[in-house]
Amino acid sequence: MRFSLQDLSKVRVGILGGGQLGWMMVLEGRKYPLKFYVMDSPEAPACRVADKCFKPDEYKEMVDSVDVVTFEFEHVYEEALRYAHEKGKLLPSIESVELKRQRWKERVFYKEHGIPTPRFFIAYDAEEVYRTAKNEFNYKCVIKQSTGGYDGKGQFFIKSKNDLDSSIDTIKKISDVFVVEEFVEFDYEASIIAVRTFDGMLKTYPPTYNRNEKGILVYNYGPINNTYISMKMVEIAKRLADSLNYVGVMGIEFFVRGDEVLVNEFAPRVHNTGHYTLDAAFTSQFENHIRALLGLEIGETKLLSCGGMVNILGLANPPLEVLRYGKLYWYGKNEARKRRKMGHVNIVGETLEDVKNKVGKVMELLYPNGLDL
Ligand code: AMP
Repeated sequence: MRFSLQDLSKVRVGILGGGQLGWMMVLEGRKYPLKFYVMDSPEAPACRVADKCFKPDEYKEMVDSVDVVTFEFEHVYEEALRYAHEKGKLLPSIESVELKRQRWKERVFYKEHGIPTPRFFIAYDAEEVYRTAKNEFNYKCVIKQSTGGYDGKGQFFIKSKNDLDSSIDTIKKISDVFVVEEFVEFDYEASIIAVRTFDGMLKTYPPTYNRNEKGILVYNYGPINNTYISMKMVEIAKRLADSLNYVGVMGIEFFVRGDEVLVNEFAPRVHNTGHYTLDAAFTSQFENHIRALLGLEIGETKLLSCGGMVNILGLANPPLEVLRYGKLYWYGKNEARKRRKMGHVNIVGETLEDVKNKVGKVMELLYPNGLDL
């Protein structure tokens, strides 16, 4: 789908999922005279700012009434995604979603396309998991359930025979395929946000350092001050996006160990580690996603300053002193639950040190007694 500027006021963009990613997509997309139709419950953040909100069982009506369908979460709305694909309206394509349905498929895809990833094996039941962990990794490994695993769910971090023995009963109860992979002793975790157009033009934002805790992003900041590592990430992003003939924004998460860059996973959508682009980059990931979907020129991804972000996790009423250090994005969710992403604070600074210090201050204000995840 390609639209001219004159057409834009007639264009309706459908978003599956009404969480914070959809909310920021709509808000950033408001720079253009587009209509946004969101599928989720009416109180969801993106529904509150949408032109129209559809319930999940109204997916056919929603897909039929828009020109292009995108999504902010790939793990739900299976029927709606498929229907949008059948109608030729889904971007990014169903292939990228399907890779995310099964973790083993994603890992195999990396291997087949020469994309470095942790050493892994596929195991079909608990016995095979046990054997692989013992024989291939001398117990030290990470066991991941193939389906439904995100934000650290369905994962077992095994350091010893004891760990494996105490997890295996739980693993036996899960009827799924497993990926058994090396436990990467990384120096740090990082990610890159890439955007690709219909014509195969790719732009990337400078990669960031990420801090994850129990499988959930707590904060990130960048740009990474290592050109060699950053170049490797750009090459990987290009290889991955090109091999999927991808259109839109994707986030790719890495483990960095010495000079080695290993892909942990990618997300076929705008990404939590790209929130900092709202304030530190000339064009945000959200605006660029919308532009890519509509076949518009994509915007400059260079940074205007160093930047970062701290997630507000599980807090109903964060201290407003955080405003001293950054910009608050509050998603207006109806209820605060443990680990739930309620908002975030974007931070900019002239140097990486400056941003890191502010991240530290915001962390102290938000979590004076440490994180409880
Ligand atoms: P994932 O759900 O795959 O994104 O994993 C969530 C988090 O678990 C990652 O961000 C890492 O902090 C950690 N993790 C996952 N896989 C590995 C691994 N193979 N080695 C070390 N840490 C891992």
